[in-house]
Amino acid sequence: MAYSQEIQNLIDKFSLFPGIGPKTAQRFVFYLLRINQGDLDDFIDDLEKIKSISFCENCFNFSSQKICPICQDPKRDKSIITVIAEPQDLMAVEKTGEYRGVYHVLGGLIDTVQNVGPREIKIKELLGRLKNFTVNEVIFALNSTIEGEGTMLYLVNLIKKDPQLNKIKLTKIARGLPLGGEIEYADEITLSEALRGRKII
Ligand SMILES: [Zn+2]
Repeated sequence: MAYSQEIQNLIDKFSLFPGIGPKTAQRFVFYLLRINQGDLDDFIDDLEKIKSISFCENCFNFSSQKICPICQDPKRDKSIITVIAEPQDLMAVEKTGEYRGVYHVLGGLIDTVQNVGPREIKIKELLGRLKNFTVNEVIFALNSTIEGEGTMLYLVNLIKKDPQLNKIKLTKIARGLPLGGEIEYADEITLSEALRGRKII
């Protein structure tokens, strides 16, 4: 027996989520069908609200304002920028509670297999920030994969050969992370140590 179209539509939508198969999608929909009206309204409200979330114009983190709360925070040291691939990596570094600088979210890594070139990620925007503001240090916190390493080397090369930028200290987080390890999944202690033990490039 097939589900009604309304139910099937939702199962199909949830099946599109990363890591979610049709069985789990079905459980999500049945859960929604069972919760009370108030909770369902809250859920729909929350979904509606994420429509207004876009990217910070400065660091490209998710933000509901033009400039995100981290970039707006006067207590943050704007002279230190940590370069990361995705917003979830930013959350991982924030959870260490140790970092007081700001971020730059590239929105991916250079990946020739997947046809992601330097122009597809926020490299131009990073160079713009380095040129227009006083930045003393750039910390690379990219995954230790071929793509992460390749993207870092590409950026290091661009910065070092630019006479306007080549005084900026470039560092990378220490190899506390397992090879091929993803920043997003690193625990706070490992990531804190990796940040503290960062090495000059
Ligand atoms: Zn920002």
